[in-house]
Amino acid sequence: MIIRSVEFVTSVADPATPPPSDLPQIAFSGRSNVGKSSLINTMLGRTRTRVAHVSATPGKTQTLNFFRVNDAFLLVDLPGYGYAKVPRTQREGWAALIDGYLRAEWAPRGIVQLIDIRHDPTRDDLAMIERLGALGLPTLIVLTKSDKVGKERRAQATAEVAARLGVDPGQVLPFSARTGEGKEALLEAVEALLGGGEGV
Ligand code: GDP
Repeated sequence: MIIRSVEFVTSVADPATPPPSDLPQIAFSGRSNVGKSSLINTMLGRTRTRVAHVSATPGKTQTLNFFRVNDAFLLVDLPGYGYAKVPRTQREGWAALIDGYLRAEWAPRGIVQLIDIRHDPTRDDLAMIERLGALGLPTLIVLTKSDKVGKERRAQATAEVAARLGVDPGQVLPFSARTGEGKEALLEAVEALLGGGEGV
């Protein structure tokens, strides 16, 4: 897939709000600081003028951010989870927003779930992945910041996470926003999630 255009469309704080168009959606999920905005900007080739911004600080309204890519699909940036210090009400708000979105009639075509390659999946990661499995949403696992570990560890981590989550190792992809490792593979995987026939 070649990225020809990217436009920010809208932010949504209430999951009952229908998406801004009926284009297929691919959502990106992960704990805050996992490298989600860096990954989105790198994947879309937005290294100079970033489209996704560093995640909202605790206390800010959490939103689903919609970007239209190539007039072919909507990339949905889900709010990062797992801040240790957020109040319970905010965590509950996050869960309601994500759950509402994932269960909506306009649920995404697939999810790209991010996990830091240096750490085991957190309890929140596992809960999220379980939820995606229960909802039957096709999920790609991306191990972020792969430049922070050696090549051998990269392969090892991929196998370990696949085994831990019970998924095919082909569904787990190392990625680095710093070196660009995994960028092409990620674009291809997103295309596959979209079904290939969407004219991307
Ligand atoms: P987000 O909160 O998930 O959107 O995470 P960010 O994209 O804002 O990244 C969080 C921190 O990790 C920032 O300091 C980034 O510079 C750093 N980071 C993100 N991706 C990478 C990567 O691929 N390699 C390295 N070395 N650092 C990264």
